[in-house]
Amino acid sequence: MPRLSAITPSGPAHLGNYLGAVRRWAREGAPGDLYFVSDLHGMTGAYHPQRLRHRTRELLALLVASGIDPDRVFVQSDLLPQLGPLTWVLECTCSFGEAARMTQFKEKSATRELVETPVRVGLFTYPVLMAADILLQGADEVPVGEDQAQHVELARALARRFNSTFGDALVVPRAVTPPAAARVRDLSDPARKMDKSAVDAAGVLFVMDEPDLLRRKVRRAVTDGLGRVEYRPAEQPGVANLLEVLAACTGRDVREIAEGFSSYGRLKEAVAEAVVEELRPVRERTRELLDDQPELDRVRRRGAELASERGAHRLSTVLRLAGVG
Ligand code: ATP
Ligand code: MG
Repeated sequence: MPRLSAITPSGPAHLGNYLGAVRRWAREGAPGDLYFVSDLHGMTGAYHPQRLRHRTRELLALLVASGIDPDRVFVQSDLLPQLGPLTWVLECTCSFGEAARMTQFKEKSATRELVETPVRVGLFTYPVLMAADILLQGADEVPVGEDQAQHVELARALARRFNSTFGDALVVPRAVTPPAAARVRDLSDPARKMDKSAVDAAGVLFVMDEPDLLRRKVRRAVTDGLGRVEYRPAEQPGVANLLEVLAACTGRDVREIAEGFSSYGRLKEAVAEAVVEELRPVRERTRELLDDQPELDRVRRRGAELASERGAHRLSTVLRLAGVG
């Protein structure tokens, strides 16, 4: 039962991506699970080509450095020769109204129209590309947060429709909700989650940040004026976030941790050291891989080969049944 998960190079990976996704993939993933860097999804808004390429490499290196089986990791754009045709077939299976119902598009296009260049058709059609990602690999489970569940439902509907209209070719996937993980919040604004595409990086702990920068960011984390270290997420979101980060890094219980501190200063010191130690080996291995270009290229090529082998038969069946190719 392959599960498929992705991370978009919309910015450098942060502690939330690591604790909430990458570290879990490495620790809890089943042998058949697949992971990819969704660089094509990083093109749906204004973006910088070199930066996209660099971040894609960095995320690929991070996934492998974190301990995920390199044979299970690939870069989305390496599958363009297969994703292109499958996306087209699926676009011709998807109704306009169905695509127009995607709430993420409605939200993102509304904000982008205010701050950015025109909204791109790619932002509108990317859920269909996402369906192609899923259906090409024959994934039956797609672990996603609430924001992506609707897109997996679309993939599910398209697979069913294709199968019933043209013949059985596609595995019908379903969205699965991963067990609740710590949602790491932005250190300068605990009302928001830590985010790759945050405009202000002051509250975002990046995996590749040097230890001193991590320490500085933690020291400046927003707390409150209550001066009590207690785990009360609603009343003390900043402090609760720090406690959760410490808990996630040390494997200890949040409330127990809270009892051990009487000042915010001490708590921050402990959080900073725990984060530095948690990220140090990953950052170092990622750096090593990034510096070893032939090795990283080899990993990337091999991942692409295996992923396209997995999809090749399915794609040719789809094209044949659809009457093309
Ligand atoms: P973007 O702003 O581009 O959406 P992001 O930081 O939300 O970036 P994604 O690529 O959307 O990152 O998500 C990659 C993985 O990281 C997903 O599994 C997501 O659930 C997880 N993730 C993202 N942000 C956090 C966070 N703050 N805490 C825990 N997990 C997170
Ligand atoms: Mg996101």
